[in-house]
Amino acid sequence: MLVEEVENQTLIAQMVRDFGATHIKPHMMRWDESQEFPIDVFHQLGELGLMGVLVPQQYGGSGFGYPEYVTAIAELAKIDGSIGLSMAAHNSLCTGHILQHASEEQKQKYLPKLSSGEWIGAWGLTEPNTGSDAGNMRTTAVLDGNEYVLNGAKNFITHGKSGHVAVVIARTGEVGDSHGMTAFIVERGTPGFAGGRKEDKLGMRASETTEMIFTDCRIPQENVIGKVGDGFIQSLKVLDGGRISIAALSLGIAQGAMEAALNYSQERHQFNQPISNFQGISFKLADMATEIEAASLLTYRAADMKQRGLNVNRESAMAKLYASEVAVRVANEGVQIFGGYGYTKDYPAEKYYRDAKLCTIGEGTSEIQKLVIARSLLNT
Ligand SMILES: Cc1cc2nc3c(=O)[nH]c(=O)nc-3n(C[C@H](O)[C@H](O)[C@H](O)COP(=O)(O)OP(=O)(O)OC[C@H]3O[C@@H](n4cnc5c(N)ncnc54)[C@H](O)[C@@H]3O)c2cc1C
Repeated sequence: MLVEEVENQTLIAQMVRDFGATHIKPHMMRWDESQEFPIDVFHQLGELGLMGVLVPQQYGGSGFGYPEYVTAIAELAKIDGSIGLSMAAHNSLCTGHILQHASEEQKQKYLPKLSSGEWIGAWGLTEPNTGSDAGNMRTTAVLDGNEYVLNGAKNFITHGKSGHVAVVIARTGEVGDSHGMTAFIVERGTPGFAGGRKEDKLGMRASETTEMIFTDCRIPQENVIGKVGDGFIQSLKVLDGGRISIAALSLGIAQGAMEAALNYSQERHQFNQPISNFQGISFKLADMATEIEAASLLTYRAADMKQRGLNVNRESAMAKLYASEVAVRVANEGVQIFGGYGYTKDYPAEKYYRDAKLCTIGEGTSEIQKLVIARSLLNT
């Protein structure tokens, strides 16, 4: 890693910690309880340059690389996974798709607003009946004159309702044809486009997750991203980068859960001594720390490779698979170390535990990551 990258990472980490202490920590349990999506926080993160981390400065972004991006998300997730998830979805998915695949004109139109945090982005691939099997989607886009008419529904979409702009993948060809899907830019307020039901979730409750519904929604032809028929292939590339951000999210949650458990184990006394004196507890801490270190190495390795323009299909899947499973294990042991108090909302352990589970599901489940890794090993 370059010296400059490491210096940037140190500065970003400190900036996020300072911001989080004032603007996130005091409110996050209220947001969690009421499932409030604190949109103002994201406008503020935009002012800090964290809503266009990877976007070049010419489009109003920060122009940082993947290693800095991983640091920013992990630091946010140490504090609140929900905020980390929303920041990751905005940067990697909507903004990332436009950055990687859109025309110069589209980039100039959308990236400055997304990078400044003035606009929040959404990305719609998943549908009620097609999650892991997203290539089988049913939402259609039919050309009528110089407009596409979208009909169908997307679900589980981060910022599906509050997002100002969405990248939406819809079917323009035959079912089963990987070149039969196209990506569109859809602005909120377009007639026929509405946010639907908001999910009531186990964790990540301050990150908005809703349906997006399209009813005869007319989209100008110039809102097609790249070539007609390339939408699904573009999405797979977007997900290669996105999975690094979910690995970073996992890493941050695991680090936060570990730190809380480590401190508590030295404060809590039983049998006239700190519980950290018991080997049963200290060995848990040793396992947690070791697994976090390994997850960190895999995540930063994938980030470094991505930064150097290498193919990270396998490495991002490995990082996401391993780091997310580590986050779940570490958060689980964290609750155990807190004992009964870990099961209450007076301590942070239960929230890490609830938030961590999303990481093994979003942007491809653990099983799908194994599929990606196995395919790359077997060349299938
Ligand atoms: C909080 C949250 C935010 C999200 N944000 C977005 C977003 O912004 N945009 C978006 O497009 N999507 C988003 N998603 C959707 C997410 O990507 C999907 O939930 C995920 O891909 C899994 O799809 P599914 O839920 O339909 O599960 P399914 O695909 O139905 O999977 C069910 C189970 O079957 C397993 N399975 C499926 N196929 C296979 C197979 N071939 N081999 C082995 N096991 C298999 C899965 O691993 C899983 O265990 C979000 C989801 C959540 C929960």
